[in-house]
Amino acid sequence: MTRQHKRATLRFLILSDIHANWEALNAVLRDAAGRRHQAILCLGDIVGYGPNPNEVTAWVRAHADVVIRGNHDKACSGASAFDSFNATAQCSSRWTREELLDEHTQWLLNLDRGPVLVEDFDLVHGAPDDEDRYMFHEHEAEAGLRYASEQLTFFGHTHVQGGFVGELYRRSFEVSRLHALPDQMAIIPDRRYLLNPGAVGQPRDGDARAAYCIYDSATRVVEFFRVEYDIRTVQDKILARGLPQELAFRLASGD
Ligand code: ZN
Repeated sequence: MTRQHKRATLRFLILSDIHANWEALNAVLRDAAGRRHQAILCLGDIVGYGPNPNEVTAWVRAHADVVIRGNHDKACSGASAFDSFNATAQCSSRWTREELLDEHTQWLLNLDRGPVLVEDFDLVHGAPDDEDRYMFHEHEAEAGLRYASEQLTFFGHTHVQGGFVGELYRRSFEVSRLHALPDQMAIIPDRRYLLNPGAVGQPRDGDARAAYCIYDSATRVVEFFRVEYDIRTVQDKILARGLPQELAFRLASGD
């Protein structure tokens, strides 16, 4: 997408951590269809864990306007080793490497690393300073806020919908975590934001429904959404393909 195209685009559908979950992706797309988004941004971890890496990668290749890589995209395409992963993630990475069509592997291998600038906000997978770093807690977010070059950064990786707001107070950031998410959140000029749309394909915030957000850059409002999807079908596929059972169970528990 060209710079000019980006400037003309105002409502962004933001997806992260789809993790080869075709049913969750489709439920999100059905839910988002009536919300007038004009471009699709993807924060990485397209594959890994889930049973449909080829279908999901093909969809992202065809429809997402800007995509950055996640740690699972690197591991499953061979861009990085997966020996630092836990046993379950190693097993799913190995399976996904075998399963992926060569053209999808090549595409994943060449994905950009965040931060990537879109209009006046950044996209990262983990943190602004390190694509593989998690930001679960306020002190982890503070380091990210210090490094971030834009007022607003969207991130993924934790599979927790929400994020952090920072206010500069005597040269240090007073960081608060967003606990109760409002349906609509306005971006206020004096604050800095690290916002996570949540995981489409493997939520870990206690809510098993697929997560996404929409950002309207004209009104500077972010809307967070959750959507029910057919978890049972995905679980059956995970088990039928011989992927670790925990990957099926955790979809239902949402953590
Ligand atoms: Zn992930």
